[in-house]
Amino acid sequence: MSQGSIQYKTETEIELLRESSLLVGKTLAEVAKILKPGVSTKALDQLAETFIRDHFALPGFKGYGGFPATLCISINDEVVHGIPGNRIVQDGDIVSIDCGTYKNGYYGDSAYTFAVGEVKPEVKLLLQRTKESLYLAIEQAIVGKRVGDIGFAVQNYCEQFGYGIVRDLVGHGVGKNLHEKPEIPNFGRRGTGAKLSEGMVIAIEPMITLGDYNVKQDSDGWTMRTIDGLPAAHFEHEVAIRKGKADVLSTFSYIEEVLNKQ
Ligand code: MG
Ligand code: MG
Repeated sequence: MSQGSIQYKTETEIELLRESSLLVGKTLAEVAKILKPGVSTKALDQLAETFIRDHFALPGFKGYGGFPATLCISINDEVVHGIPGNRIVQDGDIVSIDCGTYKNGYYGDSAYTFAVGEVKPEVKLLLQRTKESLYLAIEQAIVGKRVGDIGFAVQNYCEQFGYGIVRDLVGHGVGKNLHEKPEIPNFGRRGTGAKLSEGMVIAIEPMITLGDYNVKQDSDGWTMRTIDGLPAAHFEHEVAIRKGKADVLSTFSYIEEVLNKQ
């Protein structure tokens, strides 16, 4: 049966999760300022780590399960969990940046996929629609709905475009631990799965591909990429379940402020 149980949060805990989550958004906005063709993924990672530590927090991913960096940077056919290094970002790349923070004992977790330079129109659409699917999923993150309603919202929206919905990786509860119950798949059937209730905080993170949904892990033990080599997009928000309307704890507004100026 289920291992562990859902950890319900108090309002005080939700405010601490909001603080950690907002710091992720601010960090990704700093990264967005220097994300251009020619920059190394290692440089993005170092900027993020310094920014997080300057704000009295710790990188949430560094050391988690042995992950060696602050950011997961996944380019083009890489879906998630890419390790920053000497790779240079190229014009036309799409770059998924997933960032975690740990502050006051609580984790922030949010991700954004950036289009760098001239990206093919069909790939730009993939990014736009993946983000749209995240917000459709968030509409379902309310008291009385179930986990399957969230997955259905993503799947139902994305499959009409012929996109692949990654099965092997899912969203999750988040709190004092980076990954808590329940799992939040990006596929599912309406009215099925764990019931959503007040006090639950979850990370919703559609991972959507331009082709088939099958993924494989690289020999580095981390990077997940599409088997067919087609690009994948990934957007993630940390969300508190509420009555009537979900409470999005993370934000893309700092990021998009930067992008709109470019
Ligand atoms: Mg994440
Ligand atoms: Mg996550």
